[in-house]
Amino acid sequence: MSQTVTDFLLAVEGLTVSFDGFKAVDDLSLYIDPNEIRVIIGPNGAGKTTVLDLICGRTKASAGSIKFRGTELTTMKEHQIVRAGVGRKFQNPSIYEDLTVLENLEISFPRGRSVFGALGFRRDAEVRDRIEEVAAMIFLSDFLNMQAEYLSHGQKQWLEIGMLLIQDPALLMLDEPVAGMSVSERKKTAELLHRIIQHRSVLVIEHDMGFVADIAHKVTVLHQGRVISEGSMAAVQADPRVVEVYLGH
Ligand code: ADP
Ligand code: MG
Repeated sequence: MSQTVTDFLLAVEGLTVSFDGFKAVDDLSLYIDPNEIRVIIGPNGAGKTTVLDLICGRTKASAGSIKFRGTELTTMKEHQIVRAGVGRKFQNPSIYEDLTVLENLEISFPRGRSVFGALGFRRDAEVRDRIEEVAAMIFLSDFLNMQAEYLSHGQKQWLEIGMLLIQDPALLMLDEPVAGMSVSERKKTAELLHRIIQHRSVLVIEHDMGFVADIAHKVTVLHQGRVISEGSMAAVQADPRVVEVYLGH
């Protein structure tokens, strides 16, 4: 019955990082299943963003292990982690405002994936199909030729998710993806996440509890770099420790 570490898409164990002696993440363990949407919540400064920084290799761990499909990530460089299949979206969208939606998606398509890359026409068709598929997924099929700067804030967020999806990551990490979005955009984002996990897992940091309830299979609550509660949304909402440090405020 018990799962071995290799059954998980991501297995984080004993992860710790100190900044000048201050432990921003402290002996953290976290296990994510294939096709799971996991949400990390917790007060400001809890260490949520730092956890994503550690997983994507932007910050080096002081101790502990991060195994992704059985491969240790803590010794790998950022670009190697991307290539291994981990995509990460930051809080502010980093799209090219002066390019169209199509061009933004195009430049995100991984180069040299196929040994037959020299067969230009084949590759063009492959890229075009993938772009159309992703554009539909992110609700931007009708905006492919629009310059990205004219998109709404929510559409820009979706475009950035699309730029990550083009690379087909097995783990997609999103830091506060619905911040600044309208209610209807939030609903559509929840729909989008449920659709894309057919082929991957998603790790989300979020404050909007309505959105968390819409998407989370499981919620992990961080406080002072440590996991203080984990389980279903209902379970963590009913946990007195969580109410005390986070939800009660
Ligand atoms: P959250 O995303 O939960 O709000 P963060 O992960 O951004 O929290 O930050 C956790 C703590 O670690 C904060 O006290 C923050 O100031 C500190 N911290 C984060 N990154 C660094 C860094 N590179 N150097 C020093 N301190 C950092
Ligand atoms: Mg943060």
